[in-house]
Amino acid sequence: MNIAVIGAGPAGLMAAEVLATGGARVTIYDRMPSVGRKFLMAGRGGLNLTHSEPLDAFLPRYREAAPHLRAAIEAFPPDALRAWSEALGQPTFVGTSGRVFPQAMKASPLLRAWLRRLDHSGVQLALRHRWLGWDASNALQFEAPEGLKSLKPDATVIALGGASWPKLGADGGWIDSFEAKGIDIARLRSANSGFHVRWSDLFRNRFEGQPLKGVALSFGGETVRGEATITRDGIEGGAIYALSAPLREAVLAHGEAALHVALRPDLAMSDLTARVSTPRQKQSMSTYLRKAAGLSPVAIGLLQEAAIGGGLNLSAMDSEALAAFIDAVPIKLTGVAPLDRAISTAGGIAFSEIDAQFMLRKMPSVFVAGEMLDWEAPTGGYLLQACFATGVAAGHGALNYLKG
Ligand SMILES: Cc1cc2nc3c(=O)[nH]c(=O)nc-3n(C[C@H](O)[C@H](O)[C@H](O)COP(=O)(O)OP(=O)(O)OC[C@H]3O[C@@H](n4cnc5c(N)ncnc54)[C@H](O)[C@@H]3O)c2cc1C
Repeated sequence: MNIAVIGAGPAGLMAAEVLATGGARVTIYDRMPSVGRKFLMAGRGGLNLTHSEPLDAFLPRYREAAPHLRAAIEAFPPDALRAWSEALGQPTFVGTSGRVFPQAMKASPLLRAWLRRLDHSGVQLALRHRWLGWDASNALQFEAPEGLKSLKPDATVIALGGASWPKLGADGGWIDSFEAKGIDIARLRSANSGFHVRWSDLFRNRFEGQPLKGVALSFGGETVRGEATITRDGIEGGAIYALSAPLREAVLAHGEAALHVALRPDLAMSDLTARVSTPRQKQSMSTYLRKAAGLSPVAIGLLQEAAIGGGLNLSAMDSEALAAFIDAVPIKLTGVAPLDRAISTAGGIAFSEIDAQFMLRKMPSVFVAGEMLDWEAPTGGYLLQACFATGVAAGHGALNYLKG
């Protein structure tokens, strides 16, 4: 049983592990000179492996894709991922936000131990092998250091990732090969990305790089608490990423989207109104807002920016109107940050193209896993959890297929 796994990210490596444990002879092919580059990059942020919330809260994070991922995640849930990490010498802990991290807060020791274990189970690595697609007889084609290679394994698992941060290896270059086989691919789009905002020069020069902390962002009936950072050409950060799917779809459809920011979501409206009812006396508006409403300089800057943009004058507002404005500052998003700068990718191989084993219906013996499938999720460990779980599912799927 010779198996080719193409793509040495978390999804491909996990599929390789399942296959090797099941007795298959596995070779992992990757175009890069080393494996798991995006996984290592994720480690720079502490490596948020998964999330500790119960599955009934966890699964809806995948939005429309949740029903398609449910079985894989139930079969390899967050607790299984944590146990797997611990077995590789990297115990995990739950952070204050419920996110799960390895105690080492990085990916490199985990990846090293994992590669050692894969090596012991006989998994071969073929690096600098760029997969080009299939030929007319469905043989895999690779551009390798020694030239063009063609092979026909007993089964193939493909886990080539999305198209964000292409320098790390995944560049979405696989799309044409799949489409040539009649496989439906949902257009790749930025997920967990920033958005463009036309800031005034004054605001941009003063507040670029500054975080709005403890805010609540609302769009389309959804509200998310967290942090957002002002960038040179817009806004990014955890709370923005959590809303990035509906925001992106609105911006792509209408050219813009109106996001609302509550600058003091911790205060009841009556409390906020009472605070901004106190006399301003000779204080400047900024000093008054800082003292009365407890706003940070960047929050005050944003309030003033939005007021000017909307032709409003903060000083002329009564306390109810001012409190309401602080509770829902409008920001007009005018574009989506490009895919190569997004944290992850929405779109990919349509779930209608695969069976319950993650095998392509149009190409029996070929299995797919990871971010190249058409799902998206916010940051918080949901991305890696789905990559690992679908890797496990595709690995088992290939073993079942080989057993006939
Ligand atoms: C900055 C950053 C931080 C992140 N932090 C987190 C986090 O903390 N938690 C979290 O859950 N997720 C995080 N993610 C997302 C997570 O890293 C990805 O979702 C995950 O790595 C995707 O896994 P994958 O195996 O599907 O694809 P990838 O990890 O992208 O692996 C795909 C592999 O396929 C190879 N490949 C591509 N095309 C070819 C080809 N034609 N031929 C041969 N090989 C090819 C690539 O070289 C690559 O090694 C982060 C992402 C980024 C960019």
